[in-house]
Amino acid sequence: MGSVSNGQSGQGLGNRVFLDKIDKLRELNISKDVPLPQMVVVGDQSSGKSSVLESLTGFQFPRAATLCTRHATEIVCRREHTESVVVSIIPHNPSPEREKLVRGFRRSTDKIASDDFPKIFEDAAKVMGIKLSETDGDEGSAFSLDVLKVEISGPHADHLTVIDVPGMFETVTPGVTTESDIDLVKNMVRRYIEERRTIILAVVPCIVDIANQKILRLAAEVDPDGKRTLGVLTKPDLCIENATKAVVCDLVNGKRRDLHLGYCVVKNLGADDVSGNMHSRNQQEQALFGQAPWNTLPSDRVGVAALQTRIGHLLQDRTRAEFPLVQSDIMASLKKNKKLLAGMGESRSTTDQQRAYLGKVASDFATLKNYGLDAYYTRHDFFDDYEMRLITRVRTINEAFALVMHEKGHSMEFDDDSAGGDGSGLDEPDESDLAADRSLLYGDKVELKIPKLGEGDLGDIVSDPYWCAEPKRGDMLQHIQELYLNSRGYEMGTFSSEMLSRTFKEQGSKWRGITLAHVSNAMLIVHQFIHRALEECCPDPTVREELWGYLLYGHDGASGQKGHEGLLKRYRRAMDNAEFLLSVEFQERAITHDPRFDEQLNKLKLGGGGNKKASSEDPSNDNQPAKEEPEQGPSSSLEDTTRGIHVLLQSYYGIARSRFIDVVCQQAIDYFLLRAKNGPLEVLSDKVVLNMSAEQLDVIAGEDLAVKEERERLAKQVESLTQALKILRS
Ligand code: GDP
Ligand code: MG
Repeated sequence: MGSVSNGQSGQGLGNRVFLDKIDKLRELNISKDVPLPQMVVVGDQSSGKSSVLESLTGFQFPRAATLCTRHATEIVCRREHTESVVVSIIPHNPSPEREKLVRGFRRSTDKIASDDFPKIFEDAAKVMGIKLSETDGDEGSAFSLDVLKVEISGPHADHLTVIDVPGMFETVTPGVTTESDIDLVKNMVRRYIEERRTIILAVVPCIVDIANQKILRLAAEVDPDGKRTLGVLTKPDLCIENATKAVVCDLVNGKRRDLHLGYCVVKNLGADDVSGNMHSRNQQEQALFGQAPWNTLPSDRVGVAALQTRIGHLLQDRTRAEFPLVQSDIMASLKKNKKLLAGMGESRSTTDQQRAYLGKVASDFATLKNYGLDAYYTRHDFFDDYEMRLITRVRTINEAFALVMHEKGHSMEFDDDSAGGDGSGLDEPDESDLAADRSLLYGDKVELKIPKLGEGDLGDIVSDPYWCAEPKRGDMLQHIQELYLNSRGYEMGTFSSEMLSRTFKEQGSKWRGITLAHVSNAMLIVHQFIHRALEECCPDPTVREELWGYLLYGHDGASGQKGHEGLLKRYRRAMDNAEFLLSVEFQERAITHDPRFDEQLNKLKLGGGGNKKASSEDPSNDNQPAKEEPEQGPSSSLEDTTRGIHVLLQSYYGIARSRFIDVVCQQAIDYFLLRAKNGPLEVLSDKVVLNMSAEQLDVIAGEDLAVKEERERLAKQVESLTQALKILRS
């Protein structure tokens, strides 16, 4: 190899430093993230690519192995004191079994010229799954996407990394290549030359129609300015006609301006020369170029030594120009990989690691939950999303619930309540509107949307959406009178208390629908909060999915182990409580010890009738001034009774409504949904994680092999990139 190496005398030491550094980076295997300056040799089949490479590197590819190259070969030359060649394979998307086989392939020799190479290359081809001859049957394919790596070291080697790719071809050889192979090779070539840090050596034999070479067109596509494409013309010795020679000379002289970097011409060993002797090769080349017309060409573009020098300069220039960009690429890639690695969290193979991991998720979750409950929204940007402002949203709908109950919760307007409702009643929404927007319950009082997420998860725990119609308007007194007449017993002059509870039940018949829908809405808000908080605290989707199932449905706990109560049961308690409050309110007896009610009762007894309008302190009154009732004679006792029932009902209804609204908000919502020790928001806590069995931890937080390997890969990549930065800055 020393014979072809010209020592690259013209190159400054400073440039050399860049190249050395990039070579060191190459060994770190970071080129997937950060493409490094490199060189790739492309051209048609038999254009002389391998021959050019041999001339450049001094390494002879075994000829017998294959007629043409069936895979990309990365040749890495290094200057070292001792000679050696190491052949290995870089697999392309291997299956796990194949990966082992491919990565395990490694052969080396301690001489650059060795008789072992044909066998080594043949073995490598087999591992890469390449069909070497038709006798191999259906096994293997014509081309492999794996890359054969040949590392050549020696005292005379120049630092050079160059990639030999299969030659492109246009026609299928039956039994050897297929239509899809044509594209496979074209794509492989394209992938290499597309990378903007790659220098393209476009090899074109002199004896073809050079202008129409596919490879030059392909190179022009990816490198339109021709700034990184160098033309290499081969087989000048086969030119016979002077016209052909003249075309070649014009190209080398730069008469054609398609390639900024121009063309060089080299002469390699011909097919007949099986000696493979590099010394004789160089002599032949020199002899040819000593003749006309070649001897008229500029010497720095003729012969392999000149080509080598030119490539050296090119690589150095390219490397120096790219150097700062490589550095910033490395920094960007390092940042990205670090973030990915951090996102994966600590390794989670042991029970302790798994418990610690979930413990962190749980405590982060608890923090968010507490901020959400205490309205400490500035402490985490999670709350930049208004939908996550838990306590505020719950308060908003609680107030709307109270308003709806006040304005429309009763079935029928009371007799003197002429204003009734606020007149802003919306038209009844149809069912699909209602299903789409549960906040219609609150009329136009509320802007927020009730999340739909829980509707699937929570199944039949959430009630159907409900829309509250305006109270009926009619003659309430008349209505009460009818009820009274149809149900009276032998009571003397007055009515039984049952009359009150009966009319109350009727008047409050919408409460159930409103209340259950409201508690459901609050539940959906809480549910969405929990789900989103978990997303925030547990970024790993696999863990989150498992954890979510555990939180939602709970776990019975194996024998002797504590179970875990899931969200469904916790939510159910809030609904059960709402049902309980409703049933208590509408039980047989109407009960109140509110002095305002007694006051009404006393007035009735003293006045002997309900003809006095309830006082303005009446809790049910909607700030209506008392109406003047006409004086009734004693004969109208039926009317008195009716009126009495009306007054008491109105008073009782108002008192019951206030306490009911409060107690629903206080118990079903604030206690059972938000604060209870066994409420939904406590579904994930340190304690919950502490109580998980090893098995549960492993199911939820254990990692599969792929995750583990991905973490290791990222960790290695971060290490390599860190190392790379150090090298660049040294
Ligand atoms: P590849 O398929 O592009 O790698 O082409 P090879 O390097 O394998 O060369 C194909 C054939 O062309 C071989 O038989 C070489 O000996 C021959 N060849 C390559 N370069 C020259 C040259 O400059 N002159 C002559 N006469 N033959 C050459
Ligand atoms: Mg070849």
